[in-house]
Amino acid sequence: MEYPDEISEFNERIKSAVSGKPLLERRIWVTSLSHCLRKTALSIYLNTYNPSKSWEARIGSALHGWLGEVVKGAEFEVPVEYKLGNGWTLVGKADAVKGDYVLEFKFKGFEKKGGTESESRNKKNRDLDHAEPSKEWVEQLNAYLGMLGKERGYIYIFDRNGLEFRIFPVDFDERLFRRFIKRAERVIESVEELEEGKFPKWIGTVGNRNWVCNSCIFRPICASIDREWLKP
Ligand code: SF4
Repeated sequence: MEYPDEISEFNERIKSAVSGKPLLERRIWVTSLSHCLRKTALSIYLNTYNPSKSWEARIGSALHGWLGEVVKGAEFEVPVEYKLGNGWTLVGKADAVKGDYVLEFKFKGFEKKGGTESESRNKKNRDLDHAEPSKEWVEQLNAYLGMLGKERGYIYIFDRNGLEFRIFPVDFDERLFRRFIKRAERVIESVEELEEGKFPKWIGTVGNRNWVCNSCIFRPICASIDREWLKP
């Protein structure tokens, strides 16, 4: 019997699950493209992608949930998808969409209100007055704008202590979006090489930031391939 594409795809999933070989998720999360692309490719290939479970991320999730409950008046946690070709999809979740605008909420703990600049490692972390959106936040919001076909978004930075906030506009930047999509394409190419039994040494790593690699589950792999200095 002929089935619609969605049902055929679903049937394949059931068969794969029953055979103990779940299908590779051909999805790339927007948030995974701002960091080590090799890690993203390996996470997809080995099916280990897991958004951060740090205490900071947990507090952020709780506050996002609370905001959606109490504020209302916008669509919260909006799933976003963008077809990349070859069955791959770029996926994400915008914090909120209000009319033509995409909103991202960031809850930050600041070091010390009223502290001097020299007491703070980074001026942006000193207090809300000095806060600025990070490069990653801007490129992720820009990605949601491109995926949703919107022109402007806003990043809200909240001080976790007291929930005062500041708002930063972000206008859609087509070139930045294209560069972001290129990263996704490099990840796809890497996953396809992994499927062919090759290791994509060429994919972007994190330079020499060993502190990132030290907490990465793929450290033993990279240590044996081309990052000897990561060996215990
Ligand atoms: S160990 Fe470092 S280079 Fe290798 S995947 Fe992890 S973060 Fe990337």
